[in-house]
Amino acid sequence: MADRFNEAADLLGLSDSLKQKLQLPEKQIVVNFSITLDNGQEKNFEGYRIIHSTLLGPSKGGIRYDSGVHLDEVKALAAWMTWKSAVTGIPFGGAKGGIICDPRTLSKTELEKITRAYTKALSDTFGPQKDVPAPDMGTGPDEMGWLMDEFSLLHGKTIQAVVTGKHLNAGGSLGRVEATGRGVSIITLLALKNRQVPIDGATVAVQGFGNVGLHSALFLYEQGLKIVAVSDVSVALYNSEGIDIPELILYYNLNGKSIVGYPKANVIPHEELLLLPLDVLIPAAKEDVITARNAASINAKIIVEGANGPTSSDADAILKQKEILVVPDILANAGGVTVSYFEWLQNSLEKSWSVELVNTRLQEILEKAFTEVFATALQYQVTPRIATYIIAIRKVAEADSLRQGVK
Ligand code: GLU
Repeated sequence: MADRFNEAADLLGLSDSLKQKLQLPEKQIVVNFSITLDNGQEKNFEGYRIIHSTLLGPSKGGIRYDSGVHLDEVKALAAWMTWKSAVTGIPFGGAKGGIICDPRTLSKTELEKITRAYTKALSDTFGPQKDVPAPDMGTGPDEMGWLMDEFSLLHGKTIQAVVTGKHLNAGGSLGRVEATGRGVSIITLLALKNRQVPIDGATVAVQGFGNVGLHSALFLYEQGLKIVAVSDVSVALYNSEGIDIPELILYYNLNGKSIVGYPKANVIPHEELLLLPLDVLIPAAKEDVITARNAASINAKIIVEGANGPTSSDADAILKQKEILVVPDILANAGGVTVSYFEWLQNSLEKSWSVELVNTRLQEILEKAFTEVFATALQYQVTPRIATYIIAIRKVAEADSLRQGVK
């Protein structure tokens, strides 16, 4: 990531000290707490909250529950949130949190205790005007609801705007659950138009069938694209005629949230999904799946990054040489944080928006950001990824110079 930041920052002529300042997190918090497990045993957990930047507004970003969470990963994800908010023009900075735990092996009660203990440990950090968490890998509306409740209890009043991604009846926004996938689909249609590839029947593979992958596949299917392959952690499925995504979602819900065993597609090796001849490849699972090792074998015209950081920086040059259009994560998956902003706004104003209003505003914001990124790419003769960094870094650097007091 430093390579990409430096390339963009150098094109903007930033000084070395400003470059360093904008890359380093403002604050890094490590917390330790213990809960009593269902079996009566006491267990310790380590959690993080990294505030990367508050220059453009309160810091914003999700909380990840995963056994592989580590400080460096959370730091990188927090910085991405800063650039993501900046490029869409929403008034937030960037942050990220995480707890080292495997949510699949914990009961609902244990997850609630963990979330409440983490919130208590960070009650001075979070706040509607300070730092506003949201869901990420391994967390969802339940965790956000517990966080809001615990924070409210600690402050003696209901404070819904402290966290986004909540259930509707806990102050959530219509359209938030689907927002990242909807954003990915909006961006995919814009990218196809940009490359003059007809939308009807355009072939797509989606890696990952979590919240982002599932909704991206569904919305693109509804737009007439042909989803030829999808995968989850256990299996990759392929059907050259296209997969009926609403039917697959029904199967997934009845099959304990798994696509394993779906009969109307063939099983292929996971790695093969990335290498299929496609109009669009959507990595929507995790970091570093497209690297220098496999980038030369990728056969998609367009890559739309649904996940955060699916392409390593050494793969960028190879994809550029192959003239594959890569729409970077910080633009492609910004739909989630954008609708989080709408949720925060509705909570703060004590109003609720219709789903039509949410989706129309989301479309407007993403279209504007996409147009700006592609115009900047042309202007500077760089990839859309570097153009995205140029726009975001310029905004944050300007805010820094405007807010800087006498030193
Ligand atoms: N975790 C999501 C992301 O990486 C959403 C963050 C938010 O809504 O604040 O963009």
